[in-house]
Amino acid sequence: VKPIVKRAASATSDLSENLSKPALEIDALVIGGGPVGLFQVFELGLMGMTAHLVDVLPHAGGQCIELYPDKPIYGIPAVIETTGRRLIETLLTQIKPFKPQFHLNQQVNTIERQEDGRFFVQTSLNTTFIVKTVFVAAGLGAFQAKKIPLSGLIPYTDTQLFYHLNPNANFAGDDVVILGGEDAALRTAISLANNVNNPPKSVTLMHRRDIFTEELAKQNPDIVAVLHLVATGKLQLRISQLSDIVEKHHQLTSLKITDVDGKAEILPVDTLLVYLGISPKLGPISDWGLELERHQIKVNPATCETSEPGIFAIGDINAYPGKRKLIHCGFHECTMAVFAAAAIVFPDTPIHLQYTTTSTLLHQRLGVKHS
Ligand SMILES: Cc1cc2nc3c(=O)[nH]c(=O)nc-3n(C[C@H](O)[C@H](O)[C@H](O)COP(=O)(O)OP(=O)(O)OC[C@H]3O[C@@H](n4cnc5c(N)ncnc54)[C@H](O)[C@@H]3O)c2cc1C
Repeated sequence: VKPIVKRAASATSDLSENLSKPALEIDALVIGGGPVGLFQVFELGLMGMTAHLVDVLPHAGGQCIELYPDKPIYGIPAVIETTGRRLIETLLTQIKPFKPQFHLNQQVNTIERQEDGRFFVQTSLNTTFIVKTVFVAAGLGAFQAKKIPLSGLIPYTDTQLFYHLNPNANFAGDDVVILGGEDAALRTAISLANNVNNPPKSVTLMHRRDIFTEELAKQNPDIVAVLHLVATGKLQLRISQLSDIVEKHHQLTSLKITDVDGKAEILPVDTLLVYLGISPKLGPISDWGLELERHQIKVNPATCETSEPGIFAIGDINAYPGKRKLIHCGFHECTMAVFAAAAIVFPDTPIHLQYTTTSTLLHQRLGVKHS
């Protein structure tokens, strides 16, 4: 096992000084905002620990939101039917009383143990933490947008080319082209075409396959909305492939596109939004010195603790005999992990099992009134 680098406590402050923000000193950090990471926040809250949560995506939800937001789920205990999206909305509501702090759009790159036993954690946006316990709820790995295979576009990334729409982005007066046929592409096109406050000059949705048929519209209300916007002239639709780009004075000015019949067109563009799907990458997790088993993090099933004391792994990312990658199995693991973590964070306090039905302390933490 590759040892985790031991970092002297003083080295942390040196490093922090080089960064814009000081390191946040906290009890618990959850890596991954999928269903299991969110439920870990809940369990931490019941235990009296406020959690910080990091996810590389701009929103919580993990696989539930990225892979099956509107598909039905029937296997959550005592929930007859829900969807990926509804489950995540419910979990987000459930954790509200504990006021978790979210650090989105950033990947956890580094975890190093300090000499004082705590961990130094750093993200791709240079957010840093000094943390007593870490909960890796990284699922299949960090979700990363599939990149467009046109090298000439690389210099425009994050200036004119975006893979995730920033919800605060303002494209008023721009020629906006949205590339892709998945739900996220359709929803972005609909939202921009309907934007009356900061309307773009033009909005074009481009996909290489014609999924905008009456047949497919019967199964997908977003297709109906797209067809309606096209009919009313608010949205342009192209069934075409991107073949090249046109630049002027280091600005991306147009896209060269070719339709299914080979007909070429020049499409003006100020902003290109690309939705080619996402794929999970284990990424830096394999460098954290944790014992792995076929790309999963090995844990003790009694505690979900990894080979490094104080680092726990829960949900799809972990491995132990009999592991099943199901949401409710991950929820159970959160409970096992939080009791083991509490022994680290509150070493002098005996930790007793308490029921949310009867415990006054848990009612206080949940902010509920009980007679
Ligand atoms: C099509 C489909 C249908 C399914 N249906 C069901 C079902 O009916 N019932 C059921 O129980 N299960 C179902 N599952 C499985 C279920 O979705 C997973 O078990 C569950 O999502 C695992 O949750 P998680 O929180 O462990 O991980 P994930 O949901 O994968 O979330 C992990 C999060 O961690 C983030 N992350 C990873 N690494 C980093 C890093 N280094 N830094 C920052 N962020 C990081 C990722 O971006 C991601 O958001 C289904 C799965 C699929 C694909």
